[in-house]
Amino acid sequence: NRPITEFLSRNRPVISVEFFPPKDESGGEQIVAAAKEIREQIDPDFVSITYGAGGGTRERTYRYASILKDEYGFEVMPHLTCVGSSREELLEIISAYQAAGFCNIMALRGDPPSGESTFTPHPDGLPYAGDLVKLIRDNYSGFSIGVAGYPEVHPEATSAEDDLCHLKGKVDAGASFITTQLFYDNANFLEFVKRCQGAGIDIPIIPGLMPIRSAKQAKRFCQHIPAELEAALEAAGDDPKKTREVGVDWTHRQIAGLMDAGIKAFHMYIMNRSGMAVEVIKRLRQSGRL
Ligand code: FAD
Repeated sequence: NRPITEFLSRNRPVISVEFFPPKDESGGEQIVAAAKEIREQIDPDFVSITYGAGGGTRERTYRYASILKDEYGFEVMPHLTCVGSSREELLEIISAYQAAGFCNIMALRGDPPSGESTFTPHPDGLPYAGDLVKLIRDNYSGFSIGVAGYPEVHPEATSAEDDLCHLKGKVDAGASFITTQLFYDNANFLEFVKRCQGAGIDIPIIPGLMPIRSAKQAKRFCQHIPAELEAALEAAGDDPKKTREVGVDWTHRQIAGLMDAGIKAFHMYIMNRSGMAVEVIKRLRQSGRL
């Protein structure tokens, strides 16, 4: 098992994809089929697996992180949030990952429960992702720790400046790299990188990209959909094939554009479906970018 920082320090492109732990048997079949296809067709440097909203996927995240690592041979970064766990429980989870040979972890706060606008930590738990980073650094050695960054500013942040200051706090607590929330306008990401550099953030920043399936789905995570993309989606109408083509084309263009701007690592949100990501990577290979 190798720390992600090792991949990020090499002078060549780094590709990662994100899975989520399925809830039921058909979801289980879907993730396994996607993992097989991703392994064969993309062979990413690492993959990540989310920790469910509400903190309810502790066992499932661990189970699927182990399957992805042991059965598919991926370098896996499990996500962990502060939601619903005491400090002691968080330490138990991290210890279990370390004992099983994981050396990468994505440290997050997690979202408030749906319908609520503020996050309430567990009475014996941690209020912010930075506290989780510190907990890991104070109690373990050898972990590469990812944290989340928001090119369009975290929705609960009091201001963009405060959000950046809190991100710097996560870096100072010991984060190794940042993966961003998804965005569809490269200018937003590149501006964010500049602002991070201005704030003294000097760890790698990995752009998070999601091949778009519908404007509605994308708007759940991302406020700004460029007019050109919105128009292409509108022109595709209800035709799933055309919409898929718009999604693949846009992500391909985003990665190519970011590469031109000197970015080397890319994270794709794939929602346990391999098809569009595989297509994007194939096009990058065909055009000699990868
Ligand atoms: P934090 O960094 O703690 O920030 C939360 C808010 O508090 C921000 O507004 C920030 O500005 C503010 N803040 C931070 N530190 C301080 C401080 N010291 N004092 C005052 N204010 C502060 N959610 C899941 O449930 N499971 C996942 O697996 C998951 N994976 C994700 C992966 C990525 C790449 C991203 C971008 C998000 C992911 N999320 C996931 C969503 C994430 O949990 C939410 O966006 C959540 O609302 C914030 O988490 P955070 O780690 O960014 O929190």
